[in-house]
Amino acid sequence: MAVLDQLTSQQAIDLENKYGAHNYHPLPVVLSRGEGVYVWDVEGKKYYDFLSAYSAVNQGHCHPKIVGAMVHQAQTLTLTSRAFYNDMLGRYERFATELFGFDKLLPMNTGAEAVETALKLSRKWAYEVKGIAENEAQIIVCENNFHGRTTTIISFSNDPVARKNFGPFTNGFIKIEYDNLQALETTLTNNANVAAFLVEPIQGEAGVYVPSEGYLSAAKALCEKHNVLFIADEVQTGIARTGQMLAVNHENVTPDILILGKALSGGAYPVSAVLANNNIMDVIRPGNHGSTFGGNPVAAAVAIAALEVVQEENLTENAERLGKIFRAELAEFSENNDLVKSVRGKGLLNAILINDTEESTTAWDICIKLRDNGLLAKPTHGNIIRFAPPLVMNEEELRDCISIIKKTIAEF
Ligand SMILES: *Cc1c(COP(=O)(O)O)cnc(C)c1O
Repeated sequence: MAVLDQLTSQQAIDLENKYGAHNYHPLPVVLSRGEGVYVWDVEGKKYYDFLSAYSAVNQGHCHPKIVGAMVHQAQTLTLTSRAFYNDMLGRYERFATELFGFDKLLPMNTGAEAVETALKLSRKWAYEVKGIAENEAQIIVCENNFHGRTTTIISFSNDPVARKNFGPFTNGFIKIEYDNLQALETTLTNNANVAAFLVEPIQGEAGVYVPSEGYLSAAKALCEKHNVLFIADEVQTGIARTGQMLAVNHENVTPDILILGKALSGGAYPVSAVLANNNIMDVIRPGNHGSTFGGNPVAAAVAIAALEVVQEENLTENAERLGKIFRAELAEFSENNDLVKSVRGKGLLNAILINDTEESTTAWDICIKLRDNGLLAKPTHGNIIRFAPPLVMNEEELRDCISIIKKTIAEF
């Protein structure tokens, strides 16, 4: 078989199974093309994408403006490393810092790298500005968090599948219950060595857990009181997904450190970033931190275009409006359907809870049937199905998707 022969779905799956590490369990569908809210499999069947690559493709598949910027920059200059300046990075840094309201940006590639950067930055700030004794800094994190896959990040995960046999782990993290202000206050009061509190404004991977209203603003106020940095991991919730540019905007919170990734590039290219003001970011000096690809001109051009698309196409407003329709329709449906326990979410980051155990295959079986009916979604934690379509969806398409989802679940 020649490398570029046309493949059937089964052949493509067999190749990945035989030659690829088994670190994922994909839904059996093999995609070969995408445009806007749609993707097509190798046999030509068309689907609504209701995952958006875990919210990386908020701007829709192969957005012409983003792809255009990428192709143009790829034909001009791709990589210089940070050993030299390039003429795109500064433009992107100015654009993004003005948009999000921070003094400075540190460019990385993946979400996990940006989280690592934020952890290093907050520790260095703790020693050099706050005055914590060296190697004593603690960072508060939340139970059931998801921040990526590096050794340090899984050190404070409590997902046994992500952790087992990857130790020894990194020290210096205190885990508290999510959405529990009392736990945060107690931990801050009892520990003078806290550098930062790292939190997802909505816990995405855990199953789209939306904290109580006021949690984020009260947590930020507690951090301020104790001179502790509030780090918002908006890798999944940011870039218009929840009906605001950032999920923290719902509570008018400005984090001390903001972590972005995924849709920062519209899914075209790996781009992540950490943003902070000078009093924090200036502790990083030449040689302290870096990345060969971080801040490359293609990433800069792609990120500018991806952020412009969000603004030009009013994706925040669209996510807010369509999200309300989606939750109202599914909430009504769940009242008359025993299988759907509840629907929750914000903007177009939503999930339904299936009335079955985490070990059951019901949610997986529903996703297989959704696939057969032309809509792609994926279970998280066994009995939760996340629904996160591209934000360029229109109301007619959304209503079509809602009827596919209702029809499919009614078959069970
Ligand atoms: C996806 C995700 C990450 C990790 O991003 P990668 O690009 O996969 O490394 C970190 N934090 C959150 C909240 C995420 O959803």
